[in-house]
Amino acid sequence: MTSSVLPGRRGASAAPGSQALRNGRRAVDRHLSRASEAGWCPVAATGVLLDAARPQVRRWRCGPDGAGWLWWFVDGGGTAFGALARPAALRRTRAGWRLDRPGDDLVQAAEHLGVPAVDLLFCRDRAHRSGLDCGIAHYGGAHCRGRKRAGVSVVPGLVAEYLAPRVGPTLPGAVFHWSLPLEDVARADRPQPPLRPSPTVRGCVADFLAQPQSGARQVAKALVEPLHLLRLGQFSAALADYAQPAPDGVFTALPTDRALFSVPYLAHVLRGLRRRPPAYAADLLAGRAPGDPPNGVGGVAVIRL
Ligand SMILES: [Zn+2]
Repeated sequence: MTSSVLPGRRGASAAPGSQALRNGRRAVDRHLSRASEAGWCPVAATGVLLDAARPQVRRWRCGPDGAGWLWWFVDGGGTAFGALARPAALRRTRAGWRLDRPGDDLVQAAEHLGVPAVDLLFCRDRAHRSGLDCGIAHYGGAHCRGRKRAGVSVVPGLVAEYLAPRVGPTLPGAVFHWSLPLEDVARADRPQPPLRPSPTVRGCVADFLAQPQSGARQVAKALVEPLHLLRLGQFSAALADYAQPAPDGVFTALPTDRALFSVPYLAHVLRGLRRRPPAYAADLLAGRAPGDPPNGVGGVAVIRL
């Protein structure tokens, strides 16, 4: 098995893509600070985010508002990571918390497109999240609800799908617990704990998990992290089979172990990692209208890392 995965760079300079996403998140924080709980919607907030992240982030609308958008993170070496992102809202209600996550077909829609599903989670500020219960013990006084930069967060769609039948009313908090601030997925100085692969994960994928990554590979690894940790708590035997990834995939074979997830979780995320962006994303990067964007998505966004 071979791949073009290279070890990550330590001490890399601040990623402009991360800075642009921070600008977008701050604009969303300001936008939502003036809104009543019933007076905002995550689709509009996504527009605020992407507008404020220009020109490092470019977007192209090509479908209905409610559909997910294909996001492509593209680094300076040309490697790209794609995901189907759908806006979701963490809302406070009289009874507690509600996760507004439109539809339950996000994972399957993403599978059809050959990329992972991602919930783009709008969580407002720390005051809004006071009292949020994730149902998980925290030590050292740092509860996840106090997390900085979390106004706009991301979490693999598999997380909500897996947790929904298992955690009951703490689902909104539990999904938040496993999320990551959007701007952190590409932050060069973000610590990257080595992920110890299961014995059936070998070769380049095992190396990828164990070593720090940069650029588009870092974004992919950030989305693997919560699934890897949830997998450790699933006491089921791991499959040793491998499957062919998408054309242009960075990896030439991906593990098919799915445990209690609905799809093979490593393959689901890592097949979004490509040696180059698809033509429609390259068009958008070059400032052209995408020639042939996929059907069934609300739009395309490219983030230059
Ligand atoms: Zn937590």
